Amino acid sequence: MDIIKIFDTTLRDGEQSPGVSLIPEEKLAIAQQLARMKVDVIEAGFPIASNGDFQSVKLIADNVRTVEIAGLARCNVKDIDRAWEALKGGENPRLHIFLATSPIHMKYKLKMTEEEVLERAVESVKYCSRYTSNIEFSAEDASRSEREFLYRLFEAVIKAGARVINIPDTVGYAVPLEFGLLIKDIRENVPNIDQVTLSVHCHNDLGLAVANSLAAIENGARQVEVAVNGIGERAGNTALEEVVMALRTRKDYYNLNISQDTTQIMRLSKMVSKLTGMPVQHNKAIVGKNAFLHESGIHQDGVIKERSTYEIMDAKSIGLEENTLVLGKHSGRHAFREYVKELGYELEEDTFEEVFNRFKELADKKKKLSSVDIEALINNEIYSVEAYYELEYVCVSTGNTVLPTATIKLKKEDQIMQVAACSGDGPIDATFKAINSVIGIDNIKLLSFKIDAITGGTDALGDVVIKLDIDGKTFIGHSAQPDITYASALAYLEAINRYISVSQQ
Ligand SMILES: [Zn+2]
Repeated sequence: MDIIKIFDTTLRDGEQSPGVSLIPEEKLAIAQQLARMKVDVIEAGFPIASNGDFQSVKLIADNVRTVEIAGLARCNVKDIDRAWEALKGGENPRLHIFLATSPIHMKYKLKMTEEEVLERAVESVKYCSRYTSNIEFSAEDASRSEREFLYRLFEAVIKAGARVINIPDTVGYAVPLEFGLLIKDIRENVPNIDQVTLSVHCHNDLGLAVANSLAAIENGARQVEVAVNGIGERAGNTALEEVVMALRTRKDYYNLNISQDTTQIMRLSKMVSKLTGMPVQHNKAIVGKNAFLHESGIHQDGVIKERSTYEIMDAKSIGLEENTLVLGKHSGRHAFREYVKELGYELEEDTFEEVFNRFKELADKKKKLSSVDIEALINNEIYSVEAYYELEYVCVSTGNTVLPTATIKLKKEDQIMQVAACSGDGPIDATFKAINSVIGIDNIKLLSFKIDAITGGTDALGDVVIKLDIDGKTFIGHSAQPDITYASALAYLEAINRYISVSQQ
């Protein structure tokens, strides 16, 4: 039976979402989770774009060995050399090169004729083949390109050594029947097309990315390019979880195989949402908060009698199983270790000790801890950036009759910095002002501040996500703590530490 390959571009195209910037360690954490889910290819970045991008691709290629790692390059020697430099330590790295083929892009952007574009594409594929035979060629804006030209170009780049031909709907303009037909025509008119895997890459400007990708699959595409939660520029990319679950749930219709472990979907979705600071809409298919909730009495009654009356998927199949095992303050190190393992985390010994200590502290304050709480604790440890500034203490007084005031003490490289006390409109405002006055960075703008209770109950962990604008760039910080002022201070400092880490690169 045919196999569909899932090519994930969360870390390249997805990361191009406005206001998203991930540091290499965060990208590695996402890549590791993508590997756990067993995607077929991870596009780790665009190495020529920046130093950070280069580092991320290299870090992922060197460390994630079970999945093909791809790096993007334009059709020129400098881009390709740089991409290969980042990729070459990987197990089976893929060079992904692209060149625009639509009249509008060739005329205005590239200022090149068809013949020049064809020649450049062929030369670039040949240049790639000095490094690897694992070459993917993308015809940017393919859905608005002339068919006859695409046929000629694809035939030539396949002859030159390309192994995957990707058809992007770069601007999200295509509609399903039309896009399916384009794939069919390419298969029927490019004589050597059966030597390659046909791939598609759709954008969601008209909300059709998933529908277009599925139409392409029905017409012979065997690789789909996707992003977790559908993130990406403008309206985003094809959503990974939707394509995977459509192929799995409607296997009776598509009769195609995929190799993903769908039970990793929820954790992947949450991780990406958290690290990018992009919330998932509640009614989002598959991973939205409401995707498996039934409100109407008739539906609830039906589901209780027989789940399949109103549910086409089992919540367990995407890893949404309510973990019934509950930990408390009497749970020991051994039980905790087993629990962490069951959640799918492999922690290094000192990280484990850190998390275990945090767990004990929290268990003193909160009686019962669920898997969501434990995951929040683990995430606090494994995603934290290098701490240039650490919070020694924060003390806040607030109320309706006093001026909210915060006193804080920070540590920098084992050196205690001055104590600062500031007042503000509220406790959070006062805390942030006090931090600013100690670190002396004054061009910080708070873009967004989000707080969520992780579980129900007034003793729930407060999960704070903060976005700051510093020097025109966005930095995200997060923290989950029982005390929301403390969590806010930690999240704020984390975003600042991230800024310092990036500016030192
Ligand atoms: Zn794209």
